[in-house]
Amino acid sequence: SRAFNFSAGPAALPEPVLRQVQAELMEWQGERASVMEVSHRGAAFVECAAAAERDLRELMAIPDDYHVLFLQGGATTLSALLALNLAGPDQVADFVLTGHWGEKAVDNTQPSMKVSIAASSKAGGYSDIPARDGWQLTPGAAFVHYTPNETIHGVEFHDIPDVGGVPLVADVSSNFLSRPIDVSRFGVLYGGAQKNLGPSGLSIAIIRKDLLGKHGRALPPIFELLNQANNDSMFNTPPTFAWYVLGLVLKWIRAEGGAAAIGERNARKAAALYAAIDGSGGYYRNPVAPAARSTMNVPFFLPDAALDKPFLKEAEAAGLLGLKGHRAVGGMRASIYNAMPEAGVAALAGFMADFARRNG
Ligand code: PLP
Repeated sequence: SRAFNFSAGPAALPEPVLRQVQAELMEWQGERASVMEVSHRGAAFVECAAAAERDLRELMAIPDDYHVLFLQGGATTLSALLALNLAGPDQVADFVLTGHWGEKAVDNTQPSMKVSIAASSKAGGYSDIPARDGWQLTPGAAFVHYTPNETIHGVEFHDIPDVGGVPLVADVSSNFLSRPIDVSRFGVLYGGAQKNLGPSGLSIAIIRKDLLGKHGRALPPIFELLNQANNDSMFNTPPTFAWYVLGLVLKWIRAEGGAAAIGERNARKAAALYAAIDGSGGYYRNPVAPAARSTMNVPFFLPDAALDKPFLKEAEAAGLLGLKGHRAVGGMRASIYNAMPEAGVAALAGFMADFARRNG
């Protein structure tokens, strides 16, 4: 039987979505074939793809002057493509680092343009967000890149930083559509779908239209994001199955009440889990500054690393999966994305209290 899955990604999907996929797997929309077996250029898939885009635009209130691209290659490939597409080689990208994934984005940008680290909380073990008044932004930078939610370190921005008129580029892989967001404050929002929105294999980029096509580089046509934008993300074969599942997840989010309702539920889940940690009399510990704690990924430590193995083994037996922390950080991590029900968090909190009682 299915367990509560706290994996950081690919992550849990809503059960009604999985049931619908199962019901439609052999025959989809009267096509006498599955969605995986029909042309992406046929009427049925084109409508399925367009519906997903419409729903994403509605749920996130994406203004008309933004492209929405559905691509392969994950957030990692997108970070490299954005560096090639948003600026020329002599321009500067500023980075604000609050964890592992910001560093990776730097690695993927550096070969293509100049990079400046405007701020970093690395010295403090990425347990906080660098104070805004200390950011060393480059005048005339092509963009400022940051990671609103750092999946491994469990650090999240709870507001959108003001960087003047410079386009803000945000890797929202691990908090995509986790609550309402003002898209118009960004140049680009991008991320993999496999945490909050669907299966792996699909990445999504929301790009202000005026930012594309100005880099002045000779790019292979497939790396030119404007080509995807001008071809409804079908410049080549898109990840059709993942795109279809995304569409179902978006319909599920709508049925759950949309971004506002999902955001309120996510906030309640996070509050319950942090209360379990903070209320454990110091048994469990979350290292992140309270104002920067993530609502999506909650790392926590037991009083002794020797307890990690028994904790994980007993958690699995209790139907709580995927709690092992990232190897870079250690300890535990509970990822509580959109599809995690409140009952899952309550079950985890109950298990944690019981484990602490028995191993205190
Ligand atoms: N950015 C963030 C914030 C992530 O959490 C992850 C994956 O865990 C990535 C980037 C890498 O994504 P992908 O594997 O889709 O390239």
